[in-house]
Amino acid sequence: MNPVVVVHGGGASNISKDRKERVRQGIIRAATVGYNILQEGGSAVDAVEGAVTVLEDDPEFNAGCGSVLNVNGEVEMDASIMNGKDLSSGAVSAVRCIANPIKLARLVMEKTPHCFLTDQGAAKFAADMGVPEVPEKQLITERNIKHLEKEKNEKSAQKTDQQKDLGTVGAVALDSEGNVAYATSTGGIVNKMAGRVGDTPCVGSGGYADNHIGAISTTGHGESILKVNLARLALFHIEQGRWDEVVRPGDERAEAVGKVNRWRSV
Ligand code: ASP
Repeated sequence: MNPVVVVHGGGASNISKDRKERVRQGIIRAATVGYNILQEGGSAVDAVEGAVTVLEDDPEFNAGCGSVLNVNGEVEMDASIMNGKDLSSGAVSAVRCIANPIKLARLVMEKTPHCFLTDQGAAKFAADMGVPEVPEKQLITERNIKHLEKEKNEKSAQKTDQQKDLGTVGAVALDSEGNVAYATSTGGIVNKMAGRVGDTPCVGSGGYADNHIGAISTTGHGESILKVNLARLALFHIEQGRWDEVVRPGDERAEAVGKVNRWRSV
C-alpha cells in the first residue's frame, strides 16, 4: 500500500501575506518528515507524531512554541493522537512548559492505562517520563503577545467564539501496512479563559482514526466542533458512503459548526 500523509496548519484563510511563504515552507517540512518516516517503514502513528512535532517547533503555527496566549498571557496547550489499528488514543490538556505536547499525548497512549491526562497529573507524568521542562517564555512569541493585546482591545474573553484567527496543527497518515492515525495539537484560542479546554484533546472532536474508515484531524472553533463531535461525525458519514452529508452547504449541522474552517481525511 502506498503510504500517505496529509498535514494542516490551521487557519489558512487568515494567514497574512508576509507569513504565507513561511507557513507554506513549514507545512512542506512537516509533510516531508512524516512522509520520510513512512517511506522508511515507520508506522502511521510515528508519521503523524513526527509531522506535528515539526509544526509545534515552528513559531508560525498555533501549537508548541507558537501557541496563542490565554487571558493571563500564559500558554496552555492541548493535544491528542490516535492509532486506527486498535483505536488506542492519548491526550493531554492545558499543559504548560513543554515543547511538544503531541509527544506527551503519545506517551499517555503507550505508557499509561489511561487515555487523557491533565493539569498537575500531566505535568508529573511528563517529568516522570523525562520530558524536559522549557521556560514559558520560550513558547511565547512577539506576534502572540500583540495578538492577545489586539484581542483584548476588541473583545472580552466571553466572546472568544467571535474570533477569526484560528490555527491548530494536525496530520493524518496511512502507512504501508494499511494502518491510519491522526495527531492534533494546539495552543487553543487567543484570550481564552485559563483552564479552557477545546476540541483538540477530545477524541472524536479533535480527530479520529479507525483503520476500517479513515482518519481525520480537525481545526476550527473548538466549542462548535465539540457540539457535534465533528471528526467522528464526519467519519460516520464517510462510513455510510454519504460524503455529501459531511460537507453539504445549508445543512443544519453544518450551520452548527459554521466556524469550523478545516478538516482533512484519508
Ligand atoms: N480547535 C482549536 C481550539 O478550539 C482552535 C483551532 O483549531 O485553531 O482550541
